[in-house]
Amino acid sequence: HKELLREFSGKPSMTLCGEKKDVFANIGNAADAEKARSDDAEGIGLFRTEFLYMDRDSAPGEEEQLEAYRKAADIFAPAPVIIRTLDVGGDKNIPYMHMGKEDNPFMGFRAVRYCLENQSLFKTQIRALLRANTQGNIRIMLPMVTNLCEIRDVRDMINKCCEELKAEGKEFNSNVCLGIMIETPAAAVTADILAGEADFFSIGTNDLTGYMMSADRGNAKVSYLYKAYQPAVLRMIKFICESAHKAGIPVGMCGEAAADTILTPCLIAFGLDEFSVDSGKVLETRKNISMWSFNEAVEVSEKAMALHTAEETEQYLNSVKR
Ligand code: PEP
Ligand code: MG
Repeated sequence: HKELLREFSGKPSMTLCGEKKDVFANIGNAADAEKARSDDAEGIGLFRTEFLYMDRDSAPGEEEQLEAYRKAADIFAPAPVIIRTLDVGGDKNIPYMHMGKEDNPFMGFRAVRYCLENQSLFKTQIRALLRANTQGNIRIMLPMVTNLCEIRDVRDMINKCCEELKAEGKEFNSNVCLGIMIETPAAAVTADILAGEADFFSIGTNDLTGYMMSADRGNAKVSYLYKAYQPAVLRMIKFICESAHKAGIPVGMCGEAAADTILTPCLIAFGLDEFSVDSGKVLETRKNISMWSFNEAVEVSEKAMALHTAEETEQYLNSVKR
């Protein structure tokens, strides 16, 4: 298997008809970035920064974060390194943040909501990101966005941080893209609105599938519903891709569905620009992409989208798998 994949190493990711795609990696710390590079990722599509905050007694300071972000950025420059701001809450509890017990943490005070209320914590991260962006390849990505005001509030915060850094005479690069995860139904359904003010999208199918289907993957009684092949989820993915392109912004996917072999033709047909996967799956994803021309992918996707159940869709996609 490994031998077979070697021929895809060091090559650009292309569909069968020569359309360029990006195959990026998901990482949790700067050391992972080195592995991702050696696994032949073309960039980083998701740096989950919450790991920098976990398993310790207090939040990492600006200098410590600066070092981690700069290291990842340097390894991949000039290719993009998409760094997601702190995604705390839900299943990711960080004791020193005193988030309080909630009846429904997945619908609670978390991620970008928490960061916008805890300005000094958030500013430390944003300042570190702006300072680490000396090569201009860092992109900031917000988790759990549900509406436009969150993007605007973060832009204001970025501008404020730039002013502060300038006044302090610190070196930084204010020219940074601000993108969002599309992982809530609210963001998915309003993707056309959000695309007007986000610089890029990345579809988080792990959360999006759960929220769309109102089904917890970890709950064995309902996990059968948790499938990206559900018409509800596939329609959303298609709409998100179309909305991004109508607004002229790129769209990636960093949820596990990006590496799902049987979904590849649908994702190509929808026009997904970037596939961000565990670094061990980079070559396999590149190979899957190389098997489909756009026209063949559209043919498969149209048939798949006309089916009415996840079971039929999965069975059909398996039957045409390459
Ligand atoms: C997702 O929700 O698809 C995602 C990539 O974010 P995480 O898995 O970190 O929640
Ligand atoms: Mg998520």
